[in-house]
Amino acid sequence: MNIISASGRKINFLGMTRKQLESFFLQINEKPFRARQVMQWIHHRGVTDFRQMSDISLKLRESLLQTAEIIPPTVSEEKDSSDGTRKWLIEIPSGGVVESVLIPSGNRTTLCVSSQVGCALDCSFCSTGKQGFQADLSSSEIVGQLWLANKSFDAFQNGSGRMVSNVVMMGMGEPLLNFDNVVSAMDIMMDDLGYGISKRKVTLSTSGVVPQLDKLSKVSDVSLAISLHAPNDNLRSQLVPLNRKYPIAELLNSARRYLSSLNDLNRRVTIEYALISGVNDQLEHAVELGKLLKKFPCKINLIPFNPFPGSEYSRPSKRTVSKFWQTLVDAGFIVTVRATRGDDIDAACGQLVGRVLDRTRRSSRYEEKKTKLSAFCNTP
Ligand code: SAH
Ligand code: SF4
Repeated sequence: MNIISASGRKINFLGMTRKQLESFFLQINEKPFRARQVMQWIHHRGVTDFRQMSDISLKLRESLLQTAEIIPPTVSEEKDSSDGTRKWLIEIPSGGVVESVLIPSGNRTTLCVSSQVGCALDCSFCSTGKQGFQADLSSSEIVGQLWLANKSFDAFQNGSGRMVSNVVMMGMGEPLLNFDNVVSAMDIMMDDLGYGISKRKVTLSTSGVVPQLDKLSKVSDVSLAISLHAPNDNLRSQLVPLNRKYPIAELLNSARRYLSSLNDLNRRVTIEYALISGVNDQLEHAVELGKLLKKFPCKINLIPFNPFPGSEYSRPSKRTVSKFWQTLVDAGFIVTVRATRGDDIDAACGQLVGRVLDRTRRSSRYEEKKTKLSAFCNTP
């Protein structure tokens, strides 16, 4: 692969994996260990100026200044919730805004990372889906969210950049539809020269793009979460239009193949199930879900629906959630109910950027994408 930019534009080192940087240095007749030095400066110490990289020769620093750059994403707003959650609004130069949310909980600090501006998949209960697709984030913009979180908490001060313990690709966008950039960014998150997060603690959440999930099993071993939300195809197709193309049986088989590629019997898939009042939250749904997942190695995460302006759905009562939970627990599953965090700053799942985007600003490009998507989801 030719890593040196042919367009004459500088290359952003922030989103380059160790392998890519090693190839870069080989191509400019430098030793590959330069990649190690540069990555430590960027991801452990938060340095963005080549001139500060004191263990690199002056001549090489000068030459890097001409060909490369280290540009973190631009934060337009930072908000703190009373529960300790912090959210960043990030401007994407190609247009649009995404969000990144840091959720401290006991000895765990989880960063919820976005992969796209908007999302083309148009799930009926998701505010990101309502915005339509606008752009893919680059690998720098994805891993840059982790860089920003470290910067914001002064975590580069001790030279380790290791403040975040868990990453969930559960912000805006469908990560498997921005495959290469997401895989590179997760690679840097797990690399010791990056943020050193264990593969079990980086979770990719998908609504079920089956061919891309099969592809993922060949290049990554991160943890997997499947956004199921319904126990049968009829209901799921109403909530997640992509189900018309890749129905539940195909999706669960693909997830099984992913698990077996990990060669670790202890790993399970997380099944995400947004509970929507009167839609998928009845006892009969819980019983049917239990039957569907009986032999599937999983844990179930129930997410009481997070409302957003203009949505037609509402959150079930605590009693309904508790009955749903109990039914699955009685059927032998490990079931958690996701606590709503960052409610006062609109940072909960499915609410991201929902309130800053004027829905009338949807572009004609969105309408075009949506027509294409509808054709895509309805093609067997
Ligand atoms: N596109 C990926 C990841 C981003 S969404 C996916 O769909 O898996 C992260 C999680 O939040 C998904 O499980 C998604 O279904 C859920 N979600 C979206 N909108 C929601 C809402 N309004 N209330 C509760 N959960 C929601
Ligand atoms: Fe996209 Fe996920 Fe939202 Fe569906 S739930 S529209 S796949 S971000």
